[in-house]
Amino acid sequence: MTPNANAIAMNLTQVRQQITDAAQEANRTPESIALLAVSKTKPVSAIRAAYAAGQRLFAENYVQEGVNKIHECQDLDGIQWHFVGPIQSNKTKDIAEHFDWVHSIDREKIARRLNEQRLPRQAPLQVLIQVNIDDEASKAGITLHQIDTLASFIRSCPHLQLRGLMAIPRANSSENEQASSFSALQHAFLELQQGDPKVDTLSLGMSGDLASAIKYGSTMVRIGTAIFGARERNA
Ligand SMILES: *Cc1c(COP(=O)(O)O)cnc(C)c1O
Repeated sequence: MTPNANAIAMNLTQVRQQITDAAQEANRTPESIALLAVSKTKPVSAIRAAYAAGQRLFAENYVQEGVNKIHECQDLDGIQWHFVGPIQSNKTKDIAEHFDWVHSIDREKIARRLNEQRLPRQAPLQVLIQVNIDDEASKAGITLHQIDTLASFIRSCPHLQLRGLMAIPRANSSENEQASSFSALQHAFLELQQGDPKVDTLSLGMSGDLASAIKYGSTMVRIGTAIFGARERNA
């Protein structure tokens, strides 16, 4: 069930407080962590409710659903759209033309197509490389060793701006497993940042692991359920 507008506003307040608490715990400033609202499967009315409560960054992970919502929300000034789902190469054009950010680049072919299909009048597409930190067969993303090669390729693309890394960690891993994969990702991020001031984004943390993600340097948490309630279909 999708909560009503008041409940969405209250949920947002709670999530912002959780970010502030986790930041303080980690000796970081809350302003260094952006909140991305993941609205997949949720109606435009829910997006409008979150926007009315001050939320500006939204994410989708199905191309067609996202493009439809972007069209329906064109009147919302300052809204920013992030694509966080798996990318099939026949969908890159819609992504390149409609979204502001893409978190899920995992191969050169996808980067090349997004670069070619971004319209010349548009600002460069802001992109993250997706890393499969737990080497799960079911998940997209490259290994930590492959980051440099893909990063170099993206840096050669004039219509793409490399901003950092994204990961979807294994669900239900033990605290130790989580600590070791989060810290490996954090190190890779710090390395990628060396000498590249544009690299400023580590997209890590969802409703269930927001605090640990912030402890390991996340600068952008992607929150769905804690804002919009459980999803009606598997996604
Ligand atoms: C759905 C989704 C989220 C949000 O997950 P919640 O557990 O609902 O907060 C975050 N990131 C990605 C890539 C997603 O697909």
